[in-house]
Amino acid sequence: PYDRVWNFSAGPSALPVSVLEEVQRDLLNYKGTGMSVMEMSHRSKVYDSIINGAEATLRRVLKVPDNYAIIFMQGGGTGEFAASYLNLFACKSVRDKQRKLGRPLTCDYLVTGSWSKGGLKEVKRLGGTTNVVVDGVKSADSGAVSYSSLAPVSEWNLGKPEETAFVYYCENETIHGVETPSSLVVDAVDPSVPIICDMSSNMLSRPIDVKRFGAIIAGAQKNMGPAGVTLVIVRKDLLEREEPDTEAVRGVPSVLDWQYYASAGSMPHTPPTFAIYVCGLVFKWVEEMGIDALDQLREARAGLVYDMMDKHPDFYRGVVDKQYRSKMNLVFNLPTKELESKFAAEAAERNMVQLKGHRSLGGIRISLYNAMPLEGAQAFVAFMKEFYEANC
Ligand code: PMP
Repeated sequence: PYDRVWNFSAGPSALPVSVLEEVQRDLLNYKGTGMSVMEMSHRSKVYDSIINGAEATLRRVLKVPDNYAIIFMQGGGTGEFAASYLNLFACKSVRDKQRKLGRPLTCDYLVTGSWSKGGLKEVKRLGGTTNVVVDGVKSADSGAVSYSSLAPVSEWNLGKPEETAFVYYCENETIHGVETPSSLVVDAVDPSVPIICDMSSNMLSRPIDVKRFGAIIAGAQKNMGPAGVTLVIVRKDLLEREEPDTEAVRGVPSVLDWQYYASAGSMPHTPPTFAIYVCGLVFKWVEEMGIDALDQLREARAGLVYDMMDKHPDFYRGVVDKQYRSKMNLVFNLPTKELESKFAAEAAERNMVQLKGHRSLGGIRISLYNAMPLEGAQAFVAFMKEFYEANC
């Protein structure tokens, strides 16, 4: 009814229509307050119920245990690259371990694509001692590294638990289209070492076992809501600090300080009020849909597209090892750049937009997040078939 397109953007990306309708309905006068949520003080009772409601819904949906804090911050996934390192190194248990070792603890990074590489770079920039556990896969002939698969766990170079501050990975590499099953990582890592996971682009697409993680970080602008708010779910013991006056604690800027946010219900200062409100509506939508149903939907949507790619592998050239193909961001190449441009242009004529691969990688990328109904994937696959027949 709104003349909307099938939006395959990698983020910010499509939101459920029913959520947008609710936002629209309440935009000028939120539930009799006479104002929009945008215009409301974050210190009002009404806003309290909005942010607390969002947190409570998310806690139910992901079954977040009580010993985990849920916080809404700003600074995006990128802010959390720094925040995870700085907060962990201010944490008492990590400091104690470091003192025992007598030298800096190492930060273990699984590099599976651009975003985990970005996390690693940020920690290096801040002076952290890093260890690359795995760096994509090496081609047997040329030795060149590519982010199209994951090396077997037996080849991972995990540090010794007593020397490691945390292990970091990005579960879904939005640019390279590689998804790392969390079970692989949580089973490989010693339970005494906290795991930090970037779930920016697959959060809420399936149930997760929160208690296996030290912290989960995620920008909202894919599966959760508009850009501007960042979610952190962190085990509360990792918020315990040494004396406030230590260098490590002073080194955490307030806007990246998990404890500062957790201790003030995410509102030690003005939060991104409207973005959190929309996230709360999306969390309610996820609860109504059921996270298990969304999990099945993601398998079904991605399955349709991958099946079509596998039918014509010389034309729709998938680059990612089948085992690690992302269910959220699907990447492939066509035989020529010209065909890729034609593909995107003809798709746009059929109301399917944002198909181009990331500027760093080229090719085609289609993102199938929660708000994409099965019909969107069906329409895309019908177009793939048509395009193949006309151009193969
Ligand atoms: N991690 C992942 C997996 C991402 O996809 C992105 C952004 N697309 C980021 C981190 C960076 O997030 P932001 O742009 O919010 O800083």
